[in-house]
Amino acid sequence: MSSEKKDLRIVILGCPGAGKGTQAKRLCQRFGLTHLSTGDMLRAEISSGTSLGKKVEDYLRRGSLVPDTIMVELACAKLDMAQGGWLLDGFPRTLPQAQELQGFLTSCGHKLDIVLSLELKEGEVIKRLTSRWSCPSCGEVYNLLSRPPKAAGKCDRCPAALTQRPDDTEATVRRRLMVYEDLTRPLVAYYRGEHLFEEVDADRGMEEVAQAVAGVIEGTVLARK
Ligand code: AMP
Repeated sequence: MSSEKKDLRIVILGCPGAGKGTQAKRLCQRFGLTHLSTGDMLRAEISSGTSLGKKVEDYLRRGSLVPDTIMVELACAKLDMAQGGWLLDGFPRTLPQAQELQGFLTSCGHKLDIVLSLELKEGEVIKRLTSRWSCPSCGEVYNLLSRPPKAAGKCDRCPAALTQRPDDTEATVRRRLMVYEDLTRPLVAYYRGEHLFEEVDADRGMEEVAQAVAGVIEGTVLARK
C-alpha cells in the first residue's frame, strides 16, 4: 500500500482480537498517521518498570480496564505531542473517556473525522486470540492458524522465541470480551449519534479487511475533504 500523508483524526474500536492493532498499523502507513495505541503505551510502561507501569500491570494481567483518570491523562498527553494526523487505537474504551476526548479535542479546535469499528463474533475472537503469539524483540505478531511463523515458535525476522501475551489466555480473553460488551460497546451508540461511525466486518483475511477499511475512509472522510 502506498503512503499518502493525510491530516486525519481517526478512532478505531473493536473487541479484543478483531485485528485493531494490525489494521491500525496499516492505516497509519497508508495515510501517514501517527499510531497511538494505549495498550502499547501501557505495555511499554510495564516493561520499563515505571511507576505508572507498576500501577497498571495488574489490570492488564486480569483483563480489566485501567481507571479512566489514568487513561485520559496518558492519551491526552500523547495527543498533545502528536503532529499532523493520528489514529487512536484502544482509546476511548468507556463513555467517560469518550466525553473527555471530545472535550480535549474541542479545546484544541479539533474534531474526529471518523470512528471505525471492527466487528467479529465471540467464537472467532476466542479462536484468534488464543492462537496469537508475538516476538518480544521486534513486536511482529503471528497467528498459529492464519499466519504461522516459518519455523515453529521462532520469529521470521530475528532470532527470538515467540511469546504469548499474558492476557491472551482463554479465561482472560472471556473476561476482556465481557468488559468490552459492558463498557466499550455503548460507544457505538454514542458515536453513531454523532454521525461519525462506520462498521467493518472483520471476519475476513487481514488483506481484505485492510482494503475494506481503507475503502470506507476514502469513500466517506476523504470524499468530504
Ligand atoms: P489492547 O492492547 O488495546 O488490547 O489493551 C490491552 C489492555 O490495556 C486492556 O485489556 C486494558 O487492560 C488496558 N487498556 C488499554 N487501553 C485502555 C483504555 N483506553 N482504558 C482502560 N484500559 C485500557
